[in-house]
Amino acid sequence: MKPAGVVRKVDQLGRIVLPKSLRKRYQMNEGDPVEILVQGDHIILERYRPKCVFCGSMEEVKEFKERTICGQCLTEMNHLPKLG
Ligand SMILES: [Zn+2]
Repeated sequence: MKPAGVVRKVDQLGRIVLPKSLRKRYQMNEGDPVEILVQGDHIILERYRPKCVFCGSMEEVKEFKERTICGQCLTEMNHLPKLG
């Protein structure tokens, strides 16, 4: 991790404006979802990409009932023994 050479103040509502140069460089546009990650005492912002709720994969992710599942887990789920 290296400093971006930018210092910003947090406003009353806890907001921080990301400099336009960083938004452009990391392709963050208005309305884009951003995920907030923490690592030790660092706060990391990452463009949000849906992950499988079961294995964390980002490959072939589909949404189902407001959750996300990858193709591999979906295939495995289809091969579960039937209940009852
Ligand atoms: Zn999965």
